[in-house]
Amino acid sequence: MRGAIVAVGREILTGKTLDTNSHWLAGELTAMGIRVVRISVVDDVIEEATQEISYVLSMGPALLLTTGGLGPTRDDLTLRAWARALRRRMELHVQALEIVKSRYQELYRQGFVDTPEITPEREKMAWMPQGAVPLFNTVGTAPGMLIQEENRILAALPGVPKEMKAMFEGALSPLLAERLKERGEERVMLEEVIHTGFKDESLLGALVNRALGGIEGVYPKTLATHFGPDVDLAVRIEAWGKSEREAKEKLKEAVEALRGALREG
Ligand code: ATP
Ligand code: MG
Repeated sequence: MRGAIVAVGREILTGKTLDTNSHWLAGELTAMGIRVVRISVVDDVIEEATQEISYVLSMGPALLLTTGGLGPTRDDLTLRAWARALRRRMELHVQALEIVKSRYQELYRQGFVDTPEITPEREKMAWMPQGAVPLFNTVGTAPGMLIQEENRILAALPGVPKEMKAMFEGALSPLLAERLKERGEERVMLEEVIHTGFKDESLLGALVNRALGGIEGVYPKTLATHFGPDVDLAVRIEAWGKSEREAKEKLKEAVEALRGALREG
């Protein structure tokens, strides 16, 4: 299953914010066995966000996630971009409005906002592309968006990292695990770092390929540092399996093969 991530936010393009959302999501998706094929960043400009979403959709990934731009301010336009890219109308989503209302009532009770009233800015967060389902935001106020189709999962997550992570872990990750299982693509990845005593990556590479080249689902990566007498090159071995047990066995086989090859030199 191929996945893509589009981060929406001018602050990333101006160098004010580092796009840690994509970095984190890419790690999570990869660990589940989803091949991330593209990560991109766009400005808070409706035409540009729409164009990017359309383009990435045309690549046909089974998963497209956006982060950012769900909040109450005018520059938060990600859901409108989604709607345009999918050629769907925006509609006030009853359930999303309930989510927004309940979040503001809670914040009002806690004394964090002055009024629980649903202003136009707050209502804005409940407008979604037709047919989308809101995702509850346990940390912030803006709901996320989910569109589940037979061949793909489309979702918009918040920009604030804490909100984004909570929503991914709470709502999306279980759904993706289920989808991967349906497709017979569930994967578990385990890894181990082995120190080799080698100083020269070009020599080590050949040995690693000889030792591990034949083991399916095992991917070694030499961790290059610099040249010098104190160098002890390490190899990170990634082992993938359909289950924890299979990944463990693969990893063990690979580690033993590499250690054996290192002993023989
Ligand atoms: P909210 O609903 O809380 O307003 P939002 O979805 O509107 O969230 P943004 O307005 O896009 O989110 O971003 C809010 C803040 O989150 C940004 O000012 C930035 O600090 C942080 N942020 C946004 N995108 C990213 C990202 N890709 N990586 C890391 N931090 C980000
Ligand atoms: Mg915002």
